[in-house]
Amino acid sequence: MPHMENIFEKVSSLAKRRGFIYPGSEIYGGLAGTWDYGPLGVELKRNLKEEFWKFAVKTRDNVVGIDAAIVMSPKVWEASGHLASFSDPLVECKKCHHRFRLDQLSDSSKCPDCGGELTEPKQFNLMVETYLGVVEGEKLKTYLRGEITQGVHVNFKNVLSSTRVKLPFGIAQVGKAFRNEITPGGFTFRSREFEQMEIQFYVKPEEEESMKWFEYWKEERRKWYLSLGMRGENLKFTDHEQLAHYARAACDIEYNAGGEFKEMEGIHHRGDWDLKQHEAYSKEDMTYFDEETKERFHPWTIETSGGVDRAALFFLMDAYREEETGDGESRTVLKLHPKLAPYKAAVFPLLANKPQLVELAKKIHDDLKGGYMIAWDERGNIGKRYRAQDEAGTPFCITVDFDSLEKNDVTVRDRDSMIQERIPIAELKSYLDAKLG
Ligand code: ATP
Repeated sequence: MPHMENIFEKVSSLAKRRGFIYPGSEIYGGLAGTWDYGPLGVELKRNLKEEFWKFAVKTRDNVVGIDAAIVMSPKVWEASGHLASFSDPLVECKKCHHRFRLDQLSDSSKCPDCGGELTEPKQFNLMVETYLGVVEGEKLKTYLRGEITQGVHVNFKNVLSSTRVKLPFGIAQVGKAFRNEITPGGFTFRSREFEQMEIQFYVKPEEEESMKWFEYWKEERRKWYLSLGMRGENLKFTDHEQLAHYARAACDIEYNAGGEFKEMEGIHHRGDWDLKQHEAYSKEDMTYFDEETKERFHPWTIETSGGVDRAALFFLMDAYREEETGDGESRTVLKLHPKLAPYKAAVFPLLANKPQLVELAKKIHDDLKGGYMIAWDERGNIGKRYRAQDEAGTPFCITVDFDSLEKNDVTVRDRDSMIQERIPIAELKSYLDAKLG
């Protein structure tokens, strides 16, 4: 894998070149910490979220999904502790005026950029403010959610009374979150607008004394990343030494981003912090009634909280390869898992100026495209088209040539092995079904 200093650069340059990710508001000079997903990026992200939903909701009997509002009552954020403590102590360099998070400085005695003297730490709130209403002076000041978690906890009672869930059960959600990050950077790694994918899993406190669900979810989430092709040696668990205000235990799943392990997802034991806080601030009862034991109590929560954009970035890094192709040439290829790949296959007529080839290729493209995202390319020579699809991570390229007209078969080229085989046109669909699962 390329070194740290250039893996972010290499992936961001490929991402822009091929239409995965562009800088936000670029024609106006950009807006720091925001990113726009292009035609390939939107597919990658949709696939990732779909796989998460399959993992979290569709394949489980004890997890349901919700989609809560991004803007919530400001009281939610008072209760959750975000207004008080969702702020990182910052220091500023008196010479170059760069600001740093105190917890990210290895040496807090001098500026890491210029060696200058640093100010005392100050609190800055990371919540993004917004105002609802139309009449000036009467607008309600509130916040874009800083995490999607609270939308779940405030709906705990609604889910209990409108569904048949019983402890232990989970509520999953995927959606946008916003943070006024002081130092956005590392491409999409730290953005001001990003998406999260989470499960809040509620359990009986006495069942969790052994930390069994905490350990269970750690392993489940690790296996999920592996199942989508992430290389095991690039993943590791790191326990938090300093716990956030709400946490009883916390562990990060980290990814080796070119030599430095960085947080990709957090598994947190939140205890009964959230439900009790919302009960205290809303004055609504947030307990669970156990029909069997006739006991009423506040469940504990184990949370799995991952970043969709961070996972997308790390999947791109993990898939990125620069390879010699054996003929003195080299290629850049994204060996994305087929489930994540934006396009599952590309269809080409060997020559763009031969109507019979184009017509047959179009027919194959149209037949396949309802079920899968299928690319079309007729520009340049076949070698260039292969290279372009390699960079897009497309697992299969299907070429229609003169033999196809007579024998009703096509060449299918495998992205990773580059092996080409002849497949009857009538069998293409089942061939792709078998390969793409
Ligand atoms: P960090 O220490 O990197 O700021 P965090 O510990 O504050 O992250 P959490 O609040 O636990 O992060 O959020 C859960 C997940 O949401 C993170 O593991 C990450 O994948 C994602 N995430 C958090 N902040 C950002 C951000 N600014 N940009 C992109 N993804 C983010």
